[in-house]
Amino acid sequence: MKILIVEDEQAIAEVVSAYAKRDGYETVIAQDGLTALEIFERDAIDLVILDLMLPKLPGEEVCRRIREKSSVPIIMLTAKNGEADVVEGLDLGANDYVAKPFSPRVLMARIRANLRNKETRDNLASGLCAGGRIEIDPERVEIRKDGKVIPMTKSEFLIFSTLASRPIRTWSREEIIRVALGDDFDGFDRTIDTYIKNLRKKLAEPEHENGWIKTIYGFGYRFDDDGEKN
Ligand code: CA
Repeated sequence: MKILIVEDEQAIAEVVSAYAKRDGYETVIAQDGLTALEIFERDAIDLVILDLMLPKLPGEEVCRRIREKSSVPIIMLTAKNGEADVVEGLDLGANDYVAKPFSPRVLMARIRANLRNKETRDNLASGLCAGGRIEIDPERVEIRKDGKVIPMTKSEFLIFSTLASRPIRTWSREEIIRVALGDDFDGFDRTIDTYIKNLRKKLAEPEHENGWIKTIYGFGYRFDDDGEKN
């Protein structure tokens, strides 16, 4: 596992690197935004720690450009920590946000959590399902129905892709939370019902039985596209 640390303050970069190495990761440091993109192109990077105030190219732009081609986890590490900055960072596609001054141990825990989430995502369904009508694109975090992108939140995408990864398998609400949402989840297990309701509405499911996402009363949900004609 290799972590790219994008940070122009050398002391901070070295502290982060030392902690990460102690936890068994390889590290590479970029001291400006352009170098960060060059390294990202060249090396197989598993996670990015990204400062925002950087020479040559601001962190926001680095985040945007990485996101154009990769779903690698990005943790913003920055003194810009007003609510608007956090929202902007997450909108740009950052996975997480750690404010400076920071605790290296907290940062390491966030690294582990984000890598676990990535592992979940790597196991998501991809490609065509529902008789070819739905296409799941994990790279773009997109679901298309009959060729058209269905706008959805990240959580809705993760839940749908998890259910579709194992058609017919029934998932309890707790399993959906653990497998699909993991550390991203902020709510209680009935929140899943709301996600499912929104997904059904957005996908405008066919009318057969109760649609592609079936409710298994007293247990949870499953994805079933059996009724769908090819
Ligand atoms: Ca800086």
